Amino acid sequence: MSRLKESIRKWVLKNAIDHDGKAVVGAIIPKLIGENKELKNKVKELIPLIKEEVEKVNKMSIDDQIKELKDLAPELLEKKEQQLLPDLPHGKEVRMAFLPEPSKHLHIGHAKACIMNYYYARKYNGKFFIRFEDSNPEKAKLEFYDSILEDLKWLGVDWDEVHYISDYFDVMLEDIKGLIERDKAYVCTCDVETIREGRRLKKACPCRSNTKEENLKRYERMLEGKYSEGEAIVRLKIDMAHKNAAMRDPAIARIILTPHPRTGSKYKVYPLYDFATAYMNGVEKLTHRIRSKEFELKKELQDYIHDLFGIKKPFIFEIGRFNLEGKIASGRQIRELVESGEVSSWDDPRLTTLKAYKRRGFQPQAIFNFILQTGLSKAEAHVSEDVLAAENRKIIDPIAKRYFFVHDPVTLELTNIPENYEVEVPLHPDKNLGVKTYAIKNGDKVLIERRDYINGKTVRLKDLMNIEIKGKTGKYIGNEIIKDMSKIHWVLDSKKVKVVVVMPDASELEGYAEEYVLDLKVDDVIQFERFGFVRVDDMGEVIRFYFAHK
Ligand SMILES: [Zn+2]
Repeated sequence: MSRLKESIRKWVLKNAIDHDGKAVVGAIIPKLIGENKELKNKVKELIPLIKEEVEKVNKMSIDDQIKELKDLAPELLEKKEQQLLPDLPHGKEVRMAFLPEPSKHLHIGHAKACIMNYYYARKYNGKFFIRFEDSNPEKAKLEFYDSILEDLKWLGVDWDEVHYISDYFDVMLEDIKGLIERDKAYVCTCDVETIREGRRLKKACPCRSNTKEENLKRYERMLEGKYSEGEAIVRLKIDMAHKNAAMRDPAIARIILTPHPRTGSKYKVYPLYDFATAYMNGVEKLTHRIRSKEFELKKELQDYIHDLFGIKKPFIFEIGRFNLEGKIASGRQIRELVESGEVSSWDDPRLTTLKAYKRRGFQPQAIFNFILQTGLSKAEAHVSEDVLAAENRKIIDPIAKRYFFVHDPVTLELTNIPENYEVEVPLHPDKNLGVKTYAIKNGDKVLIERRDYINGKTVRLKDLMNIEIKGKTGKYIGNEIIKDMSKIHWVLDSKKVKVVVVMPDASELEGYAEEYVLDLKVDDVIQFERFGFVRVDDMGEVIRFYFAHK
C-alpha cells in the first residue's frame, strides 16, 4: 500500500469507528491535510481515492474496523479511550464503591454509576465495594437487596465486600452523640415550618442556644422513643447565615417509627442521607467517587461531615446525567409506574431496568460495553437505545439461530413443485449450528407477509425456491438465486406454530413461526429473519418472545 493510501485508510477507519461504523468522505480531507500540507492543492484527486476506501470500510463490521486500525495506527484508538475514560489522579491504594439504595431495581443509569466506579477500581487494582444506602426505613425494602446483587452479578460486576449502612447505625448514633458533646450538633424540637422559615431568614431557633447537657438529655429521649416522628431532629451547628442554604444547620438524624427491613424496630432514630453517606466514606476509606452531577450541591455539606470525623475526602468526579432518548429513565418515575400498575412489572419492556433489558435479550456484556462507550462526560448525555442495540447485535448476531416468523399472513398454495423437493438450510449463515430441512410437495401452503404479497410478482421464498405469485397460488419457477429478486420469509402452513412477540412498547404481535422454534428453550436469543432479534420468554402452548431490536 502506498503511503498516501495507508494514510487515507487509517483516517477512514478512525472516522468510521467514531461514527457507528460509517465514515464520511468530507471528514477525512482535513485530517489528511493536517498530516501533509502539500495535499491542500490535491483535494480533487484525493476525493475519489477517499470515496473508494469509505465504501470498502463502511461494509466492514466495527470489530473488524477496530482490529485493522489497531494494526495500522494503534495511537488513534488509544486516544479515543483516553478521552472517554481519562486517567484519574490516584495513589497506591484505590478504593471505590457503588452505592445503591435498596428501594428499586437497577436501571441503566445505576448501571452507569456502578460500571464507571467498578472500571476504575479494577483498572487501578483497587478494592470495590457495594454499599447499600439503607438509612431510610421508609424506602428500603428487603426484596431489593438481593435483586440488586443479582442484577450486578448478571452484569458481570464482582465486588470485594458488601456493606450495609444499617450495620453501622449503632456507631453512627454514638458518634452523633459525640458531636453533641463537642457542641457541633444540637437537638431541635421546632416544627417544620419554623425550621424552614429560620433557614430562609438565616435566623437561629431557640434550641441552638441550649446547653450541651440539655441537648444530651433530649438526644437520650429521642433514642428512647419518647418523641414522635417530626417532634425532634439532630442538627449540625454550622452557620445559619451560610450562603449555601444546605449548610444552614442541616438535620443529620431524625425519628422514624416505620420498622427497618434489616433492623426491625430496634432503632427509633436514623441518620440522614448526607451524614450516613459521608460517614461511610470514612468506614470504607474511599479514595474516589464517580457520581452524577446532581449531587453537586451536597458536596460542601458532605465535606464538612468528612472534616468533623477527620475522614480523608475522596476524589470526586462528577459526570453528567445520562438519558436514553424516549425512555423513562429516572428511578423515581419507574417506581411510580410500577407501583401504580401502569406498567406490568419491573421488567416491563418499556422500562430501562436491567431486568427489562435482560428479558428482551440484551446481553450483559453489551450493556457493559455501551456504558464504557459513553465515558466520563460532564455534559448531560442523550443516547439513543440504537447505540446499545448495536453493541448487543455485535454479540448476538454471530450466535443467534435464524428462523422465520410471519405476523400478518397471506396464504399461497404452491404449484408446479418438482418431485421429491427437499432443501436443507443451516440455522446460521456462517456457523455450524445445525440445519432445518424442508420437504415440499404440490399443494402445500405457505404463509407470507401481507406486505410482501404482490400479485403477478416473482419472488424468492428465502432458502427454498423462486415462485411467481398469481392470485392465491405460488408457482415454482426454479431455485437458483437471482440477483435483485426480492427474498421474502415464509412459514409452511401445515407446520406453523402460533407465537406472540412482545414489542418494546409492550404491545403484542401475534403470528406464526416455523415448527423449528419448538426446539428452543427459554432464554435463547434468536433472529426472526427480516424482523429482528428476540428472546424466548415462555415455551408454553403459545410460545412467547420478547423483541430486542432489529
Ligand atoms: Zn429548634
